[in-house]
Amino acid sequence: MPELPEVEVVRRGLELHVVGRTIGSAEVLHPRAVRRHAAGPDDFSAAARGLTITGACRRGKYLWLPVLEGTQDAPSVAEDALLAHLGMSGQLLLGDPGRPVSPHVRVRFTFTDSGPDLRFTDQRTFGHLAFAPGGAELPPAIAHIAPDPLEAAFDLAALTQRIRARRTGIKRALLDQSLVSGIGNIYADEALWRARLHWARPTETLTRRQIAALFTGVHEVFAEALRAGGTSFDSLYVNVDGESGYFDRALAVYGRAGEPCPRCGAPVRRDPFMNRSSYSCPVCQPRPRRGRW
Ligand SMILES: [Zn+2]
Repeated sequence: MPELPEVEVVRRGLELHVVGRTIGSAEVLHPRAVRRHAAGPDDFSAAARGLTITGACRRGKYLWLPVLEGTQDAPSVAEDALLAHLGMSGQLLLGDPGRPVSPHVRVRFTFTDSGPDLRFTDQRTFGHLAFAPGGAELPPAIAHIAPDPLEAAFDLAALTQRIRARRTGIKRALLDQSLVSGIGNIYADEALWRARLHWARPTETLTRRQIAALFTGVHEVFAEALRAGGTSFDSLYVNVDGESGYFDRALAVYGRAGEPCPRCGAPVRRDPFMNRSSYSCPVCQPRPRRGRW
């Protein structure tokens, strides 16, 4: 599943390759891809046609493209947006408009400049696109989602207070999109390992310094993943597949049960957690006496 750094790589690609261009057509090849667009696929196509994309924004794993009616020459400010979530397997691919259309292409955008087209492909169809009226600043559908750690609006001091008041396990707090968005299972485990915190630590027992160290860890793992995924920003293909080289090379504990902790050599442990797993070092991240599991 694409996590925040992969979605940020896609955002940067879109910023380079579609901002300033006007949509010539938006062909919906599978209605499920626009299921959140209440008025249906035909309305989505009609709404998107003729819009000029003025930016590429992200909050957590949501992307949105502020759009204007007509061309950008007219002196107006974008009010609306196209909203996208990549789900489990979504990709936004740019390329030669003449290339074959693969069976997993769900929506295809062409542009009036006849340049590279944009294809939303999604094998598992958990992703979606929608037209978001009034959504240029922040689409209403995602207004309830808290800022992510890479946003200017991210406020660590305020978040620290809210985390400590939540009285839950720290990993549950990290995954709670109403507290902080964009941190998935992989990055939560990696950041907790960096901060030497067990995932079940009760949030009210954490010091400000420990929470600060945790978000330093989040920033570090995001930065490393961006560096690993960001080498092809200037290529024409804006691609995300959730299996970037970062996952193979740089993970300390996630998916490495039984392998040595890179810091102390103890075998990494795996615990069941919310129908998934938590990976941690039994020495660097001691189990709390009274955890919130
Ligand atoms: Zn260790």
